[in-house]
Amino acid sequence: MDTNVAEKLSVTAETVWQNVQEIIKENINIRSYNTWFAPTRAVEISDQHIRISVPNRFFCEWIDNHYSKLVQNALTQTLGEPVHIQYQVEDESMPSSPYQANDWQNEVKKEEVKQPTIQSPYYTRINERYIFENFIVGDSNNFAYAAARAVADSPGKTNYNPLIVYGGTGLGKTHLIQAIGNQAIQKNPSTKVYYASSETFTSHFINAIQQNKVAEFSAFYRSCDLLLLDDIQFFSNKGKTQEEFFHTFNDLHQNGKQIVLTSDRPINELNDLEERLISRFKWGLIVDVQPPDFETRLAILRNKCDESELAIPGDVLEYLAVNLMDNVRELEGALTKILAQVTFTSAEPNLELARSIVSEIAKPDRTILTIETIMEHTAKMFDLSEDQLRAKTRKKDVVRARQVAMYLAKQLTQHSLVTIGLHFGGRDHSTVIHAIESVEKNLKADSVFRQQIESLKKHLDYNR
Ligand code: ADP
Ligand code: MG
Repeated sequence: MDTNVAEKLSVTAETVWQNVQEIIKENINIRSYNTWFAPTRAVEISDQHIRISVPNRFFCEWIDNHYSKLVQNALTQTLGEPVHIQYQVEDESMPSSPYQANDWQNEVKKEEVKQPTIQSPYYTRINERYIFENFIVGDSNNFAYAAARAVADSPGKTNYNPLIVYGGTGLGKTHLIQAIGNQAIQKNPSTKVYYASSETFTSHFINAIQQNKVAEFSAFYRSCDLLLLDDIQFFSNKGKTQEEFFHTFNDLHQNGKQIVLTSDRPINELNDLEERLISRFKWGLIVDVQPPDFETRLAILRNKCDESELAIPGDVLEYLAVNLMDNVRELEGALTKILAQVTFTSAEPNLELARSIVSEIAKPDRTILTIETIMEHTAKMFDLSEDQLRAKTRKKDVVRARQVAMYLAKQLTQHSLVTIGLHFGGRDHSTVIHAIESVEKNLKADSVFRQQIESLKKHLDYNR
């Protein structure tokens, strides 16, 4: 290693170790964590090693035997490059201090290490549970999955640069892009993989401006081999951040580094995203994830049951899979609740329990606007019936009202394009996209129409 990683990142041993501890915490059970890692602390860091203080000799051996790979990976993730770990035993009565993990015995030197004091915002937080092996593939996501695997196998060397995964919330985007990171690290542990939400990228950037460290910020992000940036819809209306990202993007791309992005909506629906960014995005591959079909939902539930080693009857799983359609996170949440109740309250995992949990999740909330309400009010405003919005007719005024209702449903609710399409007489998601585009075009061109839509929106807001 020719540069001092720690200095490059301006981190203290303490902040690095805190981050490592957090990653470890996410990957082992809390009991083990509290026993073996909570009592540890970092003493110093250099470009060669990090020195960790542990209560006694037994800790070194236990951690080394049971968790060395995990710790090493967490460190590599945090610093971007592997460093050696040295253990230092606090309890003087026990032998051999400082203790060295593995065969780095002869590297122990008590050199003075300069400790930079500015806390680094540059962490990567890849959850080791998000891997390809536990990602269930179905028609709704197989294309995204295949692209993600290809990128993970040879980052920067495929035509999929950037790879952009978009789709509704809770459909596995974060899981997929973190799986790319995990896979790339596994294949080559020295790959500099950074995962951050776009929100984190933005706040790092703002901090860098405030602390006069924009150069460091840029250098850091540009040093990645694989940059995973989640939820880029967050860049909407953030001109300065977009500009910085644009330069980062160009730099990485020119140097053959891989960029993977996610968005909760199609790229052309991202508000106020600079044209030049959008055109860059089109250099690569844009893939979507859709809500999973019934079989996939069931497979996800079965897989999760297997992981938890609790037996849940098939009819209960099917009930969940039939009733929770839109969102994998919700589906998993329901199962987790059932597992928790079965484990902690000796409840029976039966249909009755499943029903009560589903009704809790699906409980209509008065403050949430439904697609039905949007259809009702839109129809009224255009002097039509709701049925006409669902019908096959292509009469001009009906089409226009239908498109407005679809547009508002996308803007004002969390539903996916597919779900919205289903509400309008089973139209598919491309029809919804087309509707949204055409409304947006009209909004730009026609000020009367714009006022009409604004007042409809206010009205809907009032009637929530
Ligand atoms: P998003 O980022 O799209 O909002 P996440 O990646 O956070 O969604 O997924 C939500 C939850 O659902 C996570 O726990 C994830 O592991 C799980 N999940 C989503 N899709 C799948 C899938 N196809 N197979 C297994 N788990 C999935
Ligand atoms: Mg996500």
